[in-house]
Amino acid sequence: MIRISQSAYALLRQHGEETYPHECCGVLLGHFDDGSEAGSKTVLRVARCGNTREDSPHNRYNIDPRDLIRIQREGRERGEEIVGFYHSHPDHPAQWSPTDLADAHWFGCSYVITSVEKGKATITNSFELTGSDEDDKKFVDEKTEVV
Ligand SMILES: [Zn+2]
Repeated sequence: MIRISQSAYALLRQHGEETYPHECCGVLLGHFDDGSEAGSKTVLRVARCGNTREDSPHNRYNIDPRDLIRIQREGRERGEEIVGFYHSHPDHPAQWSPTDLADAHWFGCSYVITSVEKGKATITNSFELTGSDEDDKKFVDEKTEVV
């Protein structure tokens, strides 16, 4: 389960509308919740990234590794961790693609996908990357709660 603050949720959906018809992408910062529920996390902030995929920006995304390092460092200074990533699917359902799975490497993190139809954000879904290595990794549907 992923809890997202109202403002972070609005921002990540808005980002997809702004970059339409291209994919947007960014990082989710917050913390992993201790205790009962495995994989539960809270998103406090989103960090926008530029999509470095120039060959196919309408259906691929890539976060610049230098952006990622900077975002991770700035997050730590505020006591926040990277708990997930988001991107948009212009005119496609909010479901992960085989490419999304192949490109996902952060186990335990959430991958949030927003469908943007004709420039308007519609459905937002979250998937948690589970498994222990590249061979057995998979996406599991995750409940999203906007708080
Ligand atoms: Zn995707």
